[in-house]
Amino acid sequence: MNIAEINAAVDAGKTVHLANEGYLVHKDDLGQYLITFAPNGSTIGLTDRSGGQLNRDEADFFVSRPDLGLTIHCGTCGSEDVMREGWATWNAELQVWESADMQDHAWCNACVGETKLMERAIRDYGGAEGLSGSRCGQTEPCAVSVKRREARGATEDARSGGGSG
Ligand SMILES: [Zn+2]
Repeated sequence: MNIAEINAAVDAGKTVHLANEGYLVHKDDLGQYLITFAPNGSTIGLTDRSGGQLNRDEADFFVSRPDLGLTIHCGTCGSEDVMREGWATWNAELQVWESADMQDHAWCNACVGETKLMERAIRDYGGAEGLSGSRCGQTEPCAVSVKRREARGATEDARSGGGSG
């Protein structure tokens, strides 16, 4: 997301984060855009003094979209290629096995090992609705680069917990 996209998203009341959900972009009473790290309240400006240069990589900003649902990730590598153990019961009416009593035990196909799952609100790196995706037109396809970013951010997010506990 570039400066214009971030400003527009904040003004539209969207929740804009930097790198992970711990960092929140917001606007103060003076109309300045700031980045605050919620766990300790540490705050920096969104841009340099000129206002023309972001203080962080523009590709690291995203809009949290919990309205779109959640994704489930491996707590170790961040992959979505995960499975969870559970018992199933037969539904004679629908003629399907229905999952019941989901277990905490989980497996990551990427790590090829047991893992702890974490939930994450779906992220939108393109900014607010109606704005163009700043990740498009680059050397990699958008979806791939987004996935890679997700994976990279996963270890940071693992601290915030998630999963069933
Ligand atoms: Zn994994």
